[in-house]
Order: sequence, then structure tokens, then C-alpha cells
Amino acid sequence: VTTDAPTGAAQHPSDRIDTSVAHPARRYNYWLGGKDNFQADRDSGDAMAAAFPTIRTAALENRRFLQRAVAHLAREAGIRQFLDIGTGIPTANNTHEVAQSVAPQSRVVYVDNDPIVLAHARALLTSSPEGATAYIDADLREPEKILHHPELRRTLDLGQPVALMLVAILHFVGEAEDPYAVVRRLLAELPPGSYLAASHATYDHLPPDVAEAARETTRAGNPPGGINLRSRDDFARFFDGLEVVEPGFVSVARWRAEAEPQPRPTVDEVSMYCALGRKP
Ligand code: SAH
Repeated sequence: VTTDAPTGAAQHPSDRIDTSVAHPARRYNYWLGGKDNFQADRDSGDAMAAAFPTIRTAALENRRFLQRAVAHLAREAGIRQFLDIGTGIPTANNTHEVAQSVAPQSRVVYVDNDPIVLAHARALLTSSPEGATAYIDADLREPEKILHHPELRRTLDLGQPVALMLVAILHFVGEAEDPYAVVRRLLAELPPGSYLAASHATYDHLPPDVAEAARETTRAGNPPGGINLRSRDDFARFFDGLEVVEPGFVSVARWRAEAEPQPRPTVDEVSMYCALGRKP
């Protein structure tokens, strides 16, 4: 575990934890039924649930997509290395657990910028003896820092394919910070045969007033800009230059979900896109 906290290396992660404002990792934990959240997170989560009542279903379906995507990458695509940015608070079936259940030699680097995730990072460092896991306390918006981090270089061989996981994180990066350039930069460092797996909240299925209310509610939290909902086309642009794997850009509830309990939630109930693309 390494921390790049700007406030000084000697500081304990808990010193950076602000429980008075909602944080995405803790709010997501609340929706998933976890206990690592505070009143501000629950209030923000409830406010968003009031505007979008199936938000817990959306969170659960997103999590299931992550697990199916990792299983597919490990089993069908033969991927043995993962760079999982926007890890979240550890919960059931984290990336390394799913990957190593298929291939114990899988190597995973986790990255998140929330000190609460850092505080729980030990639960992510439970690698199988054949594989490896590492945790880097860093921000997606600083790709150079991630790519050149000694922990990343120690854990991953960038001469071999890597799956870049950006699951339910890109909507926390606003246009002003050019998330497209960030993704391009990360992918540029990965060899052919690497993958991008991503999911993203959308307003395509929401009435305009609900979409606006969701933006309004999150504006008060962290990050200050709140959630940046995007259209299907805007989401698809993250995959420019990649070969998108079937079934393309679909709801997280629909992506290779044949083996999931039926009936599946509707596209409207989930309101999140996902896709998997291969770097040619
Ligand atoms: N990928 C996991 C967790 C999603 S929750 C899953 O899909 O189950 C979103 C996570 O992204 C949170 O843990 C939040 O702290 C993290 N995050 C948000 N913005 C970030 C940024 N700019 N850099 C790094 N992590 C970020």
C-alpha cells in the first residue's frame, strides 16, 4: 500500500476522512447494503433514491457487471493482469478474488483516491500466493502518477496485456477534466490485446427533471461537480479505436447476463451503460 496523499506521508488515512460530506465510495457502499458509511452518505444516498427509486438495483447490477466482466476477461480472454481504478470499499467478489478464482496467478493493481478505501485496503491485499495485488492511493485524473508508480511497475508487466477497469468511476470526472484524454493516456501505455471494461451512469432513460435533480443533489457532495451523467454516444467515445466485444454498449443489467437470475431488471431501472473493448 502506498499513499500519495498531498498532505504528508506520515499522516494516517483516517485523518483525511471527512464524514461531514457525502463520498461516492461510501454512498455506493450504503446502496449495496454495507456498513462503511456515515450519515452524510446515507442522506445523499436517500436523496438520490428519492429521485431515482431503483438506485440500489442499479448499484447491485453494476457490481454484478464488474464480476461478470472480470470472469469473462480471465476465462474467455485469458487476461492475467488488471488495473482497477475506482476500486471502491472492498466488498464481496473484488476483482482479484474473481480473477484468481479462474487463474490464481492473476495480478491486480487497485487505485482509488478516497482515504476510506485506503483505510480498508488490507482486504484487497489478500492475493493468492501465485498472484499479486497492490493498492495505490491516487487519482484517475493524474494518469502519469498511476502509470509510473513503482507499485504498479512492480506488480504489472506492461509488456503483457492488461485489463483497465473503469467501472462506475468515469461519471465522477467532468468534461473540464477531459476524461477522454485520461482514458486515451492510460490505454496508450498498454500493449495490443489489452482491454477496457467500463460502466457509466446515463440520463438516456431518465425524465429530464429527474436527471437534473440527480445532478443537483450530488453537487453538494464530493466531488464538487457531482455525477456527470452521459449519453450512450458519449459513453461509446471512451472506446474509440477499440474492438468492442459483443453485445456492445448495453445496460449493465443486460451484458452477458444470461446466467443471472431472471427476470432481469429493466434498462430504465438501472440506467447505466457498460462495455468491454479490446485494443487491437
Ligand atoms: N468500481 C467499483 C466501485 C465503484 S464506486 C464497482 O463498480 O463496484 C466509485 C469509486 O470511484 C469510489 O470508490 C470513488 O472513491 C472512486 N473515485 C471517484 N473519483 C475518483 C478519482 N478521480 N480517482 C480515483 N478514484 C475515484
